[in-house]
Amino acid sequence: MRIAVIGGGISGISTATLLNKHTTHDVVVIEKEFSIGGKAVTLKRGGYTIETGPNGFLDNKEEIKRMVEEFQFEENIIQSKDESRIRMVYSNSKLNLLPENPMRLLKGDFFSLKGKMRIFKEPFIKPNKDDETLEQFVTRRLGREVLDKLIGPMACGVYAGDPSYMSMDATFSRIKEIERQYGSLIKGLAKLMKEKKANAQSASGPFSAKLLSFKNGVGSFINHLSKKLNIIYGDVVSIEQTDRFKIILKNKKIDVDCVVFAVPSYSLSDILKNTDLDFSKILRKIEYAPLSVVSLGFEKEGMPDTVNSFGYLFDLNEIEDVIGVLFDSSIFENRALDNKLLVRAMIGGALRKESAQKTNLAEIATKELQRSANIHKPFEFFTKQIHTKAIPQYGLNHKEILKEKDNFEEEHKGIFITGNAFYGVSLNDCIKSSYRILEKIK
Ligand SMILES: Cc1cc2nc3c(=O)[nH]c(=O)nc-3n(C[C@H](O)[C@H](O)[C@H](O)COP(=O)(O)OP(=O)(O)OC[C@H]3O[C@@H](n4cnc5c(N)ncnc54)[C@H](O)[C@@H]3O)c2cc1C
Repeated sequence: MRIAVIGGGISGISTATLLNKHTTHDVVVIEKEFSIGGKAVTLKRGGYTIETGPNGFLDNKEEIKRMVEEFQFEENIIQSKDESRIRMVYSNSKLNLLPENPMRLLKGDFFSLKGKMRIFKEPFIKPNKDDETLEQFVTRRLGREVLDKLIGPMACGVYAGDPSYMSMDATFSRIKEIERQYGSLIKGLAKLMKEKKANAQSASGPFSAKLLSFKNGVGSFINHLSKKLNIIYGDVVSIEQTDRFKIILKNKKIDVDCVVFAVPSYSLSDILKNTDLDFSKILRKIEYAPLSVVSLGFEKEGMPDTVNSFGYLFDLNEIEDVIGVLFDSSIFENRALDNKLLVRAMIGGALRKESAQKTNLAEIATKELQRSANIHKPFEFFTKQIHTKAIPQYGLNHKEILKEKDNFEEEHKGIFITGNAFYGVSLNDCIKSSYRILEKIK
């Protein structure tokens, strides 16, 4: 059987690699750009190793580690440095340290007295079993201050998202589950931490997963996986289904028996317009947040101590254009020469859509570093990556969209759909979906 995997990001490349290894099918990847990687590309410039998108993955999920082992890339895995455990939030016009155990935030002056008193009411608030937005959930259980200063910034950090749009079930399902199971987050988390300690695992709290990456960046893993793949570069515009499938590219047609789509949902919507207009319209309902990544290189000498950390996020009331700052060379080895610092500023996201498209991104990033991190040195290196549609946003309609996707696959035997628009945006989630597709096709 001949299989076309459309899309050469982590979802497409990992699916094709698995199909290649575990089946006897003839697999071809079709990618529209001149190179693979999609959002996950690593650039090497002037001694810096720059990620245009993801810079790592958490070690508390198995899928990517499983794939790394299966395709013998373990010796390239690197752990984040110890100093990267230091994370901050810019709030009250200063950088505030985030303890690894969020309960410790109740001790300092990060939250106001009123905010803390509101948190203490949490165990007495009735659970809501229905899905709701992140904003509704957090303000209902913990109060506005926790949303603005802690959970909202995290939503920006992971999804570049807007808490008033994001579905709890689709994005923070584990937290919602804790509410459903224990009736209270505080009670549930306390119980889980106790169990964790009893199991002699890390005692530093439920948010203590370690960030991992690869010596030569995330892109090096995708390049490694792709080595044995047959890749055709071309833009898929539509498909025709007869007893087989005809993949229509701008300048050629390819006949296959089975198609795996691993493209963003808006691209899939275009491709399927003639196959199923209703489903094509449903796919359009998945919104994307724009995000520009500005990478700046500096001489390290004379930099404030705050650069020796993971980076920081912003209190929702204090965001200007930048929604997150990462000190990449303090997170991982090999990202800059010893005397240099590599900083990435994330600009835009769902809360500042217009900021991602501005023309003076370097100026915006440097002004932010001056305001929030007291970095006044000029940069010696600059590059930017503008993702006009960076990260899919899972809203309250997400469950419904997944159901429609399943129905479409059911009605169109031989078509499979994966990619970060459906079952999670992290690299781990994407690879988990690839293993799922392998099981379906095998
Ligand atoms: C700035 C940023 C930082 C991130 N940081 C992290 C992080 O630290 N950790 C983490 O786990 N995740 C992170 N993510 C999320 C993660 O990187 C993405 O969810 C993941 O890389 C998406 O992979 P994908 O293959 O599903 O989609 P994509 O990477 O979007 O790949 C889709 C591919 O399909 C191709 N394509 C589109 N249309 C067509 C067509 N018509 N014909 C042929 N090919 C087509 C595209 O060119 C592209 O190569 C980040 C994302 C961004 C944007």
